[in-house]
Amino acid sequence: MALTLDAQLLEILACPSPDHAPLSPGAPDDPEADALTCTGCGRVYPVRDGIPVLLLDEALEPGGADPGTGAAGSAAPGTGTAGDGAEPDDDHADSA
Ligand SMILES: [Zn+2]
Repeated sequence: MALTLDAQLLEILACPSPDHAPLSPGAPDDPEADALTCTGCGRVYPVRDGIPVLLLDEALEPGGADPGTGAAGSAAPGTGTAGDGAEPDDDHADSA
C-alpha cells in the first residue's frame, strides 16, 4: 500500500535528528512501504495508521537491516590488526 499522506503534510514533516532533513515516502528497499525515509541521514520512520512515527527510538537506522554491507560487521573495527604504534598514553614517554 502506498502512503496516503498528502504532500503538504510531507512538506512540514522533518527528521527529528539534528539534520532536520525532509522526508520522502517509502523505504529505500520498498517504495510502497508505509514508512518515511529521511533524505539526510537515511533513517526510516514507520507510519502507523497513517500517522508518521517520527521518533529516533522507532527509526530504522540506515544499514541496520542490510546484510550486504560489511561482512561480519558486528566485530569491533581493528580487531586483529594492532595499532600503528600510536600509543594514547604517553605518561612515561618523556623521562628527561
Ligand atoms: Zn535525518
